[in-house]
Amino acid sequence: MRIAVIGAGLTGLSVAALLLKLGIRAEVFERADGPVDSGSGIYVWPQGAQIMRFLAGDDDLLERGHAVEYFQTNNRYGEELHQTAVRLAEFDFSQPAMMYVRGTLLAALRALLETDQLSFGKACIAVDDNGPDVTVCFADGTESRFDLVIGADGIHSAVRNSVHPKISVVDSGVAAARGLVAFDCRLLRRDLCQIFAFDTSRLVSYPLSPTRDDRYWFLAYPHHHKPLMDREALIRHCSALRDPLPDFVRRTPEDVILSHPLLDLEQNHEWYYGRVVLVGDSAHGVLPTLGYGYTLGLENGFALVQALLSSRQGDIEGALRRYRRRVAGRSREMAQVMRDITRLFYFDGEAAVNTKSLEPIYADFRKLARSTVF
Ligand SMILES: Cc1cc2nc3c(=O)[nH]c(=O)nc-3n(C[C@H](O)[C@H](O)[C@H](O)COP(=O)(O)OP(=O)(O)OC[C@H]3O[C@@H](n4cnc5c(N)ncnc54)[C@H](O)[C@@H]3O)c2cc1C
Repeated sequence: MRIAVIGAGLTGLSVAALLLKLGIRAEVFERADGPVDSGSGIYVWPQGAQIMRFLAGDDDLLERGHAVEYFQTNNRYGEELHQTAVRLAEFDFSQPAMMYVRGTLLAALRALLETDQLSFGKACIAVDDNGPDVTVCFADGTESRFDLVIGADGIHSAVRNSVHPKISVVDSGVAAARGLVAFDCRLLRRDLCQIFAFDTSRLVSYPLSPTRDDRYWFLAYPHHHKPLMDREALIRHCSALRDPLPDFVRRTPEDVILSHPLLDLEQNHEWYYGRVVLVGDSAHGVLPTLGYGYTLGLENGFALVQALLSSRQGDIEGALRRYRRRVAGRSREMAQVMRDITRLFYFDGEAAVNTKSLEPIYADFRKLARSTVF
């Protein structure tokens, strides 16, 4: 089967590596001219780490990350409001949740592919599923033909827009700034994700190492349709937090801070159109409030590869139908949980954040997490 994967982000690389492991060499096309390192962190839940272990077959991929097993929610003074384990007690996952530097993980995934399997500088502008094959058209004027096209090209997916242009990407009203920094103080732990809720905002700290002070931080706030905060405004904003927490931003140079509005995707669309299928943010684009986007992409990519490999020769449609049945409803519900937690922290605000308000949302989340594909 000739398969194209459009997009060499975390999901596209993982799907191509899963296919390769199971004997199918897909061609991967990436718009960027070379490897892109966004310079931030990425959290992988045990459900995803378990698939990464399957993918890599040894500890190498997993040893590049750092195990972070609990989420602790604190108030602006650093007093604990809530703590939850990330690993589901009743599941026999051999993998803990892992925290990675994004560039490290992307490089490790690229290394799982064969040389020449990945082409850079190939922006897909359209896919056409009207002939005997699916034609992929690129911005450089070239075309290639495949039996199946997998759109893993992110929330603004050109593949999705080509087959179904009416799906809206929605601004959630929340913006996030994030950065990497070496910083330690008595309040911070090297084994926990720590969330500090203040006003209608959150500062989140993820440790990146058991031995060094390296951390990934994430500061999210409602943007009220005003320009996003620059470094000085972020420092002023988090001065509401107890000292020395604002040092997360003070110690991070301006050019290391990335800022984005957080985007959500309408979730009522199809997951495949003929022989074109979506996976990762192009299909589900969930808000990153619990850092589950890549894990969901891994779970769904794993389900897609399973469906393709277990279908009768040539029955791509049947495989894609099974893939959709297995993952689309669950992903939609997961997106809703992320919206609920986003609303609580960023719109209801600090006074509403407590065990009573967090537990029902985490309970919904755990219920979905239990239905993982692995
Ligand atoms: C602020 C923030 C923090 C987050 N934190 C976490 C976290 O801690 N844990 C987590 O699991 N998730 C997190 N997420 C979500 C996570 O980043 C995404 O779910 C994950 O990166 C999705 O990967 P993807 O490969 O589907 O899409 P993308 O990462 O968007 O990758 C798409 C790739 O396709 C390429 N591409 C785009 N268009 C084309 C085209 N036309 N032709 C060819 N190539 C194209 C892009 O260049 C890119 O390489 C966060 C998101 C944000 C915004």
